[in-house]
Amino acid sequence: MENSIDLEIISKELDEGLILLDLDAIVTYANPIALSYFGERILSKPIYNFIRAPQLIDLINLKKKPKKFEYIHHANSVQTYLITIIPLTEKATALKIADYSQKEAFENVRKEFIANISHELRSPLTSIIGFIETLQNLEVSKDKSNHFLKIMQDEANRMSRILDDLLSLSKLEINAYIKPVDNINILENLNIVLSTMEIRLKEKNIRVNLNANNKKSIKSIIKGDFDEITQVFNNLIDNAIKYSPENKTISIDVDYKRNDNKLNTISISISNEGKGIAEEHLPRLTERFYRVDKDRSRDVGGTGLGLAIVKHIMNRHDGELFITSNFNKKTTFSIILPLIS
Ligand code: ADP
Repeated sequence: MENSIDLEIISKELDEGLILLDLDAIVTYANPIALSYFGERILSKPIYNFIRAPQLIDLINLKKKPKKFEYIHHANSVQTYLITIIPLTEKATALKIADYSQKEAFENVRKEFIANISHELRSPLTSIIGFIETLQNLEVSKDKSNHFLKIMQDEANRMSRILDDLLSLSKLEINAYIKPVDNINILENLNIVLSTMEIRLKEKNIRVNLNANNKKSIKSIIKGDFDEITQVFNNLIDNAIKYSPENKTISIDVDYKRNDNKLNTISISISNEGKGIAEEHLPRLTERFYRVDKDRSRDVGGTGLGLAIVKHIMNRHDGELFITSNFNKKTTFSIILPLIS
């Protein structure tokens, strides 16, 4: 009895399906994940009514070592499962069921990410190698060689920015489940970031219009990671400058919101004018290396990772990111964060 209680507690925590069968392959127990795959109806019924795989009965009857097979299940959607048959006693067998579709999807994302990284680093490297060869093989004037060296420097800086952003992302993934502990005054943090952008704003003659008139928003404190919140403002304001035409205004609106049953929140909306972003791109902007216009992002020094980083940081802070854009008019990136005071 005690054993079966332990099994239930453990199997509820598993992130794979677990089914127990008796001597006649009747389902005596299924954990919540197995039930979500095959439905409650499997309980007290023979398993081969639901998992229609010829090898299943043979493997159950074999009663030797655990054996695995891949099973394609046709229900509302087609799912691939990896089923491991584990003989327990003469009379009982366990089936461990892993969702292979999810694993496959995860594996594909991982492969695509690595292919993207290789490609992103390969292009600046190819250009650097090309210029080194040119400088080695040709009689090049001082002016030309300076020009080539400047391009090589830009490309090397780009590689360095990509690697910095990748490191930031992997650090965020490692810390995803650790709650941040700094008390951060949002407006102070925002002003620090703005002061570091002064030269770039001057270069493009862009004005910043910061609206935070409400006293509550001026005093708003969040529980967060100081460096990460700084990075969020850095990335969003940096993008607003990069993608705004010259001689325009960037608006930053800070709004305190009182919520009755939840924590109060603060929203920071950063808007810039410009070409805008067509609606079909909006849901994909926070994917790693997704850009609307690759050449434009490249020309303005983008890595394609800035918004992926912002999204990760928002998740870690129980915050949200919203993006709206009027084509050829205004683009707004808003973040909303829960307040502690
Ligand atoms: P990047 O380094 O290319 O800027 P991001 O992840 O920061 O990468 O942004 C992804 C893409 O979203 C950009 O390439 C650009 O197409 C679009 N984007 C981001 N911010 C803005 C903005 N403020 N205005 C217009 N487009 C933007």
